[in-house]
Amino acid sequence: MFSEEYDIIVVGGGHAGCEAAAAAANMGSKTLLVTMNLQTIGQMSCNPAMGGIAKGQIVREIDALGGYSGIITDKSAIQFKMLNKSKGPAMWSPRAQSDRMRFAEEWRLALERTKNLDFYQEMVRGLLVKKDRVVGVRTSLGLDIFARAVVLTNGTFLNGLIHIGDKQFGGGRAGEKAATGITEQLEEIGFESGRMKTGTPPRVDGRSLDYSKMIVQPGDADPGCFSFLSTDVLKQQRDCHMTYTSEEVHELLREGFDRSPMFNGRIKSIGPRYCPSIEDKIHRFKDKDRHQIFVEPEGWDTVEVYVNGFSTSLPEDVQFRALKSVAGFEKVKFFRPGYAIEYDYFPPTQLKHTLETKLISNLYFAGQINGTTGYEEAACQGLMAGINAHLKLKEKEAFILRRDEAYIGVLIDDLITKGTEEPYRMFTSRAEYRTLLRQDNADLRLTEIGYKLGLAGEERLKKVEKKQKESEDLVGFFKKTSFNPNEINPILESVGSQKVSQGDKLYKVFARPRIGMDQMLKVQDVADYVSGHKLGAEVLEQAEIEVKYSGYIAKEKTNADKLQRLENIKIPENFNYRKLASLSYEAREKLEAIRPATLSQASRISGVSPSDISVLLVYLGR
Ligand code: FAD
Repeated sequence: MFSEEYDIIVVGGGHAGCEAAAAAANMGSKTLLVTMNLQTIGQMSCNPAMGGIAKGQIVREIDALGGYSGIITDKSAIQFKMLNKSKGPAMWSPRAQSDRMRFAEEWRLALERTKNLDFYQEMVRGLLVKKDRVVGVRTSLGLDIFARAVVLTNGTFLNGLIHIGDKQFGGGRAGEKAATGITEQLEEIGFESGRMKTGTPPRVDGRSLDYSKMIVQPGDADPGCFSFLSTDVLKQQRDCHMTYTSEEVHELLREGFDRSPMFNGRIKSIGPRYCPSIEDKIHRFKDKDRHQIFVEPEGWDTVEVYVNGFSTSLPEDVQFRALKSVAGFEKVKFFRPGYAIEYDYFPPTQLKHTLETKLISNLYFAGQINGTTGYEEAACQGLMAGINAHLKLKEKEAFILRRDEAYIGVLIDDLITKGTEEPYRMFTSRAEYRTLLRQDNADLRLTEIGYKLGLAGEERLKKVEKKQKESEDLVGFFKKTSFNPNEINPILESVGSQKVSQGDKLYKVFARPRIGMDQMLKVQDVADYVSGHKLGAEVLEQAEIEVKYSGYIAKEKTNADKLQRLENIKIPENFNYRKLASLSYEAREKLEAIRPATLSQASRISGVSPSDISVLLVYLGR
């Protein structure tokens, strides 16, 4: 069946696997996607939503590079919100509620339309390895499929164990088998593995809920989209709702604590701190008498509803009784109970920046297998692994995004430099250059790179070049055009800004607080320029951000440039740290384990102090 050798085999059809397969195939590698069930390609295991704080920025970056997640999200969205709009633009984060079934369907359609991509449904049980190099995979039927590189994206499936109350059974996700064999083989080869856990709430029948007792959560009045290509914006949206737990609900949940795998020691591994289960929330935050519950529809044409905020592995009868006491849920009917799952992961310090493993060449890991949590985190790793597997086979330079270039760069650098002992999710606070890494400029940062890689198409490049030129010209217009005090003063007064006594450049007043593009458009010259050049909303927004935040942006750029100098000092892969006697013992141990590629990466390893960096700098500077 598989007599020919593939360039790349991607194992797993989740978010990481889909992006990896699409990237590798689109760049020209003959690719095979092997997954346990072709029906679950692009399946959202947990909440039907993409984006959110920092995650939305990642989806925009994937899109800017030419990945598919943004387009798929736009095509399957049922609601769109720009979060944090009241804060500065570095914090704006797009989030879309998705139609779960359409999301998966759109992924499948997109992949089937991708050239160079074959599909095969089976469980991969092991890798074919020859002299520290991966040469293919072995399936559960015993088929050997050969390839020059393999990307593993097994998600929560490796030795997955599902917990509901005191019941536990093997599974990679509810209703799906766990994957076995891979962890055991990799451990034998010398990989270190660990266990993590995550959980999901019950899904219920929307027809059984009383929405009149809940607070409506509509989407944005003026919805945006994820893709920088002109995907359609939503003309119609579905509302979400919000309700609260109560002391009564907490009491009912507590009745099940002695049967909770979280509290009786059955679950030993660590879960995502920022996505706690409801039992964890009431246990940890004892003084809170209520917690929010978001009631989210699973799609356009289904009555199934996702109960966000009620993730639990308590016994199903306890879940049911407690949920019935929540306002609006009195007559609730369950579709499926919530559950927790434990699974194997591989500490990501065993990877290079390209996501290739240090131990076995041409073997890449991406997604939840690396200790991350979240669709967006998984998808971007898949994209990077797919790109790098292809580049390596073509003997081209590796593709690494720096921390000042993309959240994706921050994520991968954090993982491989610091590792993670609990499921890693992205936050804006993890990025030191978040004023540079905004969702609105992901295309300006990354599309040209994506185009050069052969991923982003001509249409994207042209669009971004136009946006760049138009916004730069508009900023230039504000810098060189003077205002007339008689015209500007009523505008300034209308927002409580001090009047001016003489004319100056428009840029000066635009930079003031409380003055936004809306005010500037009241100046006739500006209105004429904008309509004369037919400038779109994206360009106006970009120019406004450039003017209002130019000080912060310049400062971050200077800091990033400083870091870049350390980034340029490479450390040879087999560098002998033992010969540097003045390195601290801890630093030497960590440096030997992680083997940073640059001095900058070395400086981010915990336990490596500034004086250790000076020692290295002096030596490498020679
Ligand atoms: P997955 O989406 O898990 O996909 C793995 C794919 O690999 C599947 O297609 C599977 O069939 C296939 N596969 C696995 N092993 C093999 C094999 N040996 N051979 C062939 N195919 C194989 N994220 C959050 O951000 N917040 C949450 O609250 C949250 N809760 C979750 C709750 C549950 C119960 C689960 C299961 C996941 C949860 N997640 C949550 C995580 C989120 O689903 C993942 O981060 C994301 O799906 C990871 O993507 P992935 O591509 O790495 O893996």
